[in-house]
Parts: sequence; C-alpha cells; structure tokens
Amino acid sequence: MVGTRARIMPTEWGERRSGVSGRIDTGGRVDDCVFCDIVRGRAVASMVDEDDQCLAFLTIEPVNPGHVLVVPKRHVVTLAELDEELGAHLFRFALRVNRAIRRSGLRCEGVNLFLADGAAAFQDVFHLHLHVFPRFHGDAFRLDADWSTKPSRTELDEVAARLRAVLPVDQGELH
Ligand SMILES: [Zn+2]
Repeated sequence: MVGTRARIMPTEWGERRSGVSGRIDTGGRVDDCVFCDIVRGRAVASMVDEDDQCLAFLTIEPVNPGHVLVVPKRHVVTLAELDEELGAHLFRFALRVNRAIRRSGLRCEGVNLFLADGAAAFQDVFHLHLHVFPRFHGDAFRLDADWSTKPSRTELDEVAARLRAVLPVDQGELH
C-alpha cells in the first residue's frame, strides 16, 4: 500500500489535518476535521450524493477519475465507533455510488472499495471514510504486501478458532 498512500490521502486536505485527534464539540464534530467542514459546507468539495446520514464527494487526489469518498455525516473515527445500522447504511450508500460510477461513462473496468481503520492501516483523515474508485487494466493503483507467506491449514484453523472464540463481539465492547 505504500505506493498508493500518497494518492489515497489528499495533501491539500492533509495540510489541515494536524490536530484532528479528538477535540469533539457539542455537536459530535471535531473542530479541525476537514470532512466535518465539508459536511457543514465550510470546506469546498465536489459533491456526488447526499442523504440525511451520509455524504459522497470526490477526493482531490484520485487514483482514477471518479474516485469518491463516502463519509457518515456524524464524526466517527473508527469502525468500532460506527454503529452497525449506520455502517450498513454507509455500505448501501457506497453501492449506489458504485452504480453511478459504472453508469457514468468514466473509464471503469472494475471498482475497489477501500477503508483504512487506524493509522497503522494508513488512515490519515480521522473521520471514517470509504473510498469507492473505478479501476481499469494498466492503471497506477497497487497493493503492496508480502504475498509469499503461505500458512499451513493447521495455522489457519488456529487463527480461525481464535476469532470464533470471541464471537459475537457486541457493539461497544472494543471501546
Ligand atoms: Zn469529522
């Protein structure tokens, strides 16, 4: 992902990112959050779609033309903070954006959804956002990892057992 990071994270917005961690105002928004500013109409964005809970707008540094960010209007930082109902709504909203991208005539041979939850996952704007962007053969987007690791079935089963052992994890238990 290293090669994609700079293109996923808008530098123009990034210059305003400093200090976004945790100054929540009475409306549940963060004063220095650029996405909250966009939701409130205080920062410019090229709007794509909106309903009462979500907003979709173009990122200013797209992987490809038609690269949309879908955000909840409420300031939410992590997936753990996103209640399941809003999460489901966010995904339905993203599906609608996907259909728009595919019908728009923009070059689109495939679509990626990408969500970074936490700095270690390359989250850089700390207002949860789901990237929806068109892909085509030969474009510049890359996913970089060590794909050579091939765990044994035993190792896979042990990891799956660890996950099963803690399920279900109710909303709020990670806070
Ligand atoms: Zn925000």
